[in-house]
Amino acid sequence: MRIVIKLGTKILLDGEDNLSLEYLRNITKQIGALKKEGHDIVLVSSGAVGAGRALLQKSNSPINTQILSSIGQAELIHHYNKCMKEMGLYAAQMLLTREDFKTRHHYLNIKNSFENSFQHGHIIPIVNENDPVTILESNFTDNDELASLIAIQIKADKLIILTSTEGIYDRDPEEQGASLLSLITPDMHQDLNIEEGQNNVGRGGVKTKLKAALKASQFGIETHIASGVEENVLSQLIASDSSLGTRVTACVETKGRGVKRWLASDISIETGEVYTNVCLTELLLHGEKILSLLPVGIEKYTGDFKKGDLILIKSHDHKILGKGVAKYDAKTLKQYMGQKNKPVFIHYDQLFLNKETL
Ligand code: GLU
Repeated sequence: MRIVIKLGTKILLDGEDNLSLEYLRNITKQIGALKKEGHDIVLVSSGAVGAGRALLQKSNSPINTQILSSIGQAELIHHYNKCMKEMGLYAAQMLLTREDFKTRHHYLNIKNSFENSFQHGHIIPIVNENDPVTILESNFTDNDELASLIAIQIKADKLIILTSTEGIYDRDPEEQGASLLSLITPDMHQDLNIEEGQNNVGRGGVKTKLKAALKASQFGIETHIASGVEENVLSQLIASDSSLGTRVTACVETKGRGVKRWLASDISIETGEVYTNVCLTELLLHGEKILSLLPVGIEKYTGDFKKGDLILIKSHDHKILGKGVAKYDAKTLKQYMGQKNKPVFIHYDQLFLNKETL
């Protein structure tokens, strides 16, 4: 299997908020065992800011989060590396930003780096957001989102999000009567009223975890959200009969080709906008079948886009529906708009709809 494992800050820290070397060794051992069984693994690890803070807690001079994260990242990767080496593995540090996902060229470079590391057989890519260049700016909302995008990018079979709670609860887990949701299917999420718990050290909360899982689900990837301190959590989760934590099932009908996966990153720059008419809006939102965008359903456009440019798709009442790649330029669309029997404007293979509404 190809598995992306995400570790949250809180489980990497001990009771005194220091980096827990015991936990790092334990989880690395589990990862090593999976690697030995032949699985491809990417580890997305938070904890840089937390580790930096722990190191500098006695310092009196003020220090910003960006520097904290760079000090902490060095510490974190040092310990990962030590633990990995004990098992004959190499830790390959990859620090990514949103910007790196913007151009298709860089997106493919990142993908190739992962593929190369898998081919080698003894390398574990360890990813974190490159906080020193992104904190204060438009960063990933959290590492849950980053992990989900990587899972989509490398066509993972599973995304495992390890956290400090048992999984996703039907209400704040601190509340009396809260119960763990062991299974969430993509069609269920609109009826769920997920509340955030109180104890959040990292950036991602329960909502972002569910959102990340639902995005992965659209690409046929199953997600497990579970407590990182459960014994042998990883082998338990990959067992086919696992009942640990919350399992968010994969949508079966969409797997998505390369361009679609990149579009799901949700961060590329669009050069034009099209507005769908009432009928096409309805079909895109609630239709059963995956559609291509025909000019007959488009009532307006903006931008001077060319063939191959990225287009933002909005409904007649200006809600963002998704994005796709233009099959022809703005001038041609102007001629075809509103007319029947004209060539497809965005092919469904190059169309990504925002179905997640959290
Ligand atoms: N990149 C941050 C860190 O390493 C964590 C972000 C998050 O909590 O998701 O501290």
